[in-house]
Order: sequence, then C-alpha cells, then structure tokens
Amino acid sequence: MTSVGCTNNQPGSTVKNKTGSWRTFKPISDREKCVECFNCYIFCPEGCIDTEFNIDYDYCKGCGICKNECPVNAIEMEIDE
Ligand code: SF4
Ligand code: SF4
Repeated sequence: MTSVGCTNNQPGSTVKNKTGSWRTFKPISDREKCVECFNCYIFCPEGCIDTEFNIDYDYCKGCGICKNECPVNAIEMEIDE
C-alpha cells in the first residue's frame, strides 16, 4: 500500500509564504457594482479579502474564485504585470 502525507513542523508558517508571488492574473473589484454579499470574503481560499472587500495582494494567488463567486460580476481578472 502506498501512503502519501505531510506534516507542518512550523505552525503559522503560511503567513510567511506570500502566495501573491504565484499570481498571473489579478482580481480587480468594482465598488460601484458590489452588493456586499460577502461571497468573495467567504470563498477566497487564502483568506486575503477583508470584511470591507479589500484584497491583500501579498497573499492573493490569482485563482479567480472570488470572480466566479461574485453574483454581480463586480470582480474582473486582469493580467498582473
Ligand atoms: S483571486 Fe483567489 S486568492 Fe485572490 S482574492 Fe480572489 S479568491 Fe482570493
Ligand atoms: S462577491 Fe462581489 S458583490 Fe459580493 S462582496 Fe464580493 S465583490 Fe461584492
């Protein structure tokens, strides 16, 4: 039987791992369109959207989940240059 697994021997180390460096596309939100549904805040896997819907680009990895979950298309993905 093959087993696959890992352990994290440095608790809290994800804060040091600035996943923003992985990004190819960058989410840009349009505050005029936002209806404050909190979907982006809830679904962001990095937890990098705050309760005022500001995106912390140090940790945003550009996955686009926030855009996909926004019911009013208030978030666009642009190439991050
Ligand atoms: S693109 Fe992904 S990581 Fe970045 S804010 Fe949206 S859901 Fe979070
Ligand atoms: S998902 Fe869209 S409408 Fe909802 S809070 Fe985020 S930006 Fe606003």
